[in-house]
Amino acid sequence: MVDVIAAPPQPRIPVLRRNPLSTYTASTDTFPVRRIYCVGRNFAEHAREMGATVPTSAADRGNPVFFCKPADALVLDGRVPYPRGTHDLHHEVELVVAIGADAPDGILDPADAGALVFGYAVGLDLTRRDLQAAAKAKGLPWDTGKAFDHSAPISALVPASEVDDLDSCSLTLMVNGEVRQHGSLSDLVWNVPEILHELSRLFALRAGDLVFMGTPSGVGPLQPGDHFHAMLEGVVELTGEILPPG
Ligand code: MN
Repeated sequence: MVDVIAAPPQPRIPVLRRNPLSTYTASTDTFPVRRIYCVGRNFAEHAREMGATVPTSAADRGNPVFFCKPADALVLDGRVPYPRGTHDLHHEVELVVAIGADAPDGILDPADAGALVFGYAVGLDLTRRDLQAAAKAKGLPWDTGKAFDHSAPISALVPASEVDDLDSCSLTLMVNGEVRQHGSLSDLVWNVPEILHELSRLFALRAGDLVFMGTPSGVGPLQPGDHFHAMLEGVVELTGEILPPG
């Protein structure tokens, strides 16, 4: 067998390792990416700002909202061309979970989910909000609003074994030096084990999968020339810039 085209490149995310000073430094390790799952409406205040129904208790959460992005939407150097087809590009800062082992057959118990997690990153679920809003209004899929080229800038990955207390971490996004979004992972509607359990009811989770865990409130527009600085505080950061349309 001979490929009739050059094989498309597979995205690979750099992995950081903790050094003796308890800061993180580059290693030669990389994480090859298979799929990108995303969770919608996973912070109550963000669901409210989007006009969605807000769960008031765990019993009334319903089902999580899932959608996907293609793996080649990842941006590893922070340089994001303003996308075509939109006049309302929005930022959504998110925790990203990297799956490091294939899930067993069947539905994953939340108690077993932690063992599948390789590590964590911070990323932006960039959204063409005008296209997403038009799709929502017609009850149509969100793909054009979410799954476009360069829609997933992401930091390096930090191994889960080197993160002390994820649940107490916070997410912050600054744009041009001003705080736009801030939230604590303790406020997730569905936490990481619960999301991996829910995903496993629908998909076979495999090593190489990423999960964007949903954004806190404060989403808003980005323009060419804007500089962004996303932080999973105490763990990892992502800096970058919106470039003129590509
Ligand atoms: Mn999102």
